[in-house]
Amino acid sequence: MEPNVPETPMSRRKFIETSSGVAVAAIAPSVLSQAAQPADRPDKRKTIGIQIGAVSFVDEGTDKVLDLLQERGAIDTIYLTTFTYGRGLSGRQIPGHPFPDHGVQESDESFFHGGNYATPHPEFYRDTVLKPAHAPDHGDLDVVAAVLPAAKKRGLRVFCSIEDVFRSDVPGAKEVAEVDLQGRRANTLCLCHGDVRAFWTGLATDLCRSYDIDGILFFNERNGPLLNALGASHAQSIASSRVTCFCEHHQRAAKERGVDHQRARQGFQKLDQFVQAALQGRRPSDGYFVEFWRLLVEWPEIIAWDRLFDAAKHQVLAEVNAAVKRVRPGLQVGFHVEHVNSFNPLFRATRSYADLATKADFLKVVVYNNCGGERYANFIRNVGSTVFRDVPKGELLRFNNHLLDYGDEAQLNELAAAGLSPDYVYRETRRALAGVQGKCKVLPGIDVGIPTGKNSRKASPDDTYAAVAAALKAGADGLILSRKYSEMQLANLAAAGRAVREAAKR
Ligand SMILES: [Zn+2]
Repeated sequence: MEPNVPETPMSRRKFIETSSGVAVAAIAPSVLSQAAQPADRPDKRKTIGIQIGAVSFVDEGTDKVLDLLQERGAIDTIYLTTFTYGRGLSGRQIPGHPFPDHGVQESDESFFHGGNYATPHPEFYRDTVLKPAHAPDHGDLDVVAAVLPAAKKRGLRVFCSIEDVFRSDVPGAKEVAEVDLQGRRANTLCLCHGDVRAFWTGLATDLCRSYDIDGILFFNERNGPLLNALGASHAQSIASSRVTCFCEHHQRAAKERGVDHQRARQGFQKLDQFVQAALQGRRPSDGYFVEFWRLLVEWPEIIAWDRLFDAAKHQVLAEVNAAVKRVRPGLQVGFHVEHVNSFNPLFRATRSYADLATKADFLKVVVYNNCGGERYANFIRNVGSTVFRDVPKGELLRFNNHLLDYGDEAQLNELAAAGLSPDYVYRETRRALAGVQGKCKVLPGIDVGIPTGKNSRKASPDDTYAAVAAALKAGADGLILSRKYSEMQLANLAAAGRAVREAAKR
């Protein structure tokens, strides 16, 4: 079939004609029947999932895409990007990176917008000022309504992925925005705000009531103010004066916990001064780490305020879970556990798998190993420029490897090019399984073609095969190919499917 024209958003009618008519006719019947057989699922106990956004179905046709996913990837579960304003889960390949060997080979920058790719039903958003509109990227297309029947016919499960990434021009966003250390409004939304919480439960309820889906996968990669102040992640800048949130709702939540909001603000101002001095190489007389630790000892409100963020984030998850179960107890809720969890020991300490397991049916634990090398190196350089500035960075990496129970990974200057190993995937999967104690499922998120820097590791099919095999060997309850089909090479998808099928034979 002809690729669809990307310049103008496609009407829903044209989309459905293209996806259900032309595409099916173009595929041999024997292939279709093979793919549709439930027996094709390699292991009924495992979930073999993939994240995918609306643009792939529009560009390539629903049935054609579903055929590819089933035949090559052994996929039995679709995590359909339904709400986000972010490019990590939605849209074509991000600008500046080569397109994979399928889909439209042209940037979607001219029409990418984001929002709700399904149809928002106003009755579910009565209790919130936050009212994101239908995503205009593909006209009036409702991607859940369009994909669900074709997926169900094949026995595929469908989850709606929803992500906490917004634009500042979303109706209501300014009213519920966070407030930073300097009293400025931020672009992020306050998770203590009742309207924000009502939005998430409203959205999850809307999707579960309006569509015959299998559940929700909730993404929220935001960090608390302590890690943001230190830049103790892989990608973010170190912006210690912009940490959030100090709004009235946070002040009230702090008061309920007996945390002094003025002391917290002063503590973060001290932390800001420490970080800025460290970045300029102005060494405290007792050294960077001792000074940092002294700050935490003298200003315990720093930790307490950081915990407020985590508490609100996890409360939203619990509320989403409860809202979904109110619709139907059999619906499943999953929570994406972000990458920093696997290489930052300070972050790890704030994430108890046993606790998360009480709030979700499954955890999608990020173990992206190819881009993991570049990201882990960035993390080491970030923390090595402040808290651990006295430690040579190569030694810091080795020390951190011991803390994290990493095996024989590459040295710092080779880490981005080498990536992290399949052994990392195995170990992190084992750790998650041990952590949840059987109380929820663990589905490692596997890196398939996540864009990296020019000289950083690009996943080969062998890399994908090895990562999938390692996750399954570790005993995972399944896996989720990530981040989105529109950035994956088909050979990598096929390598994942081969690893799944071979593992099922053992
Ligand atoms: Zn707030």
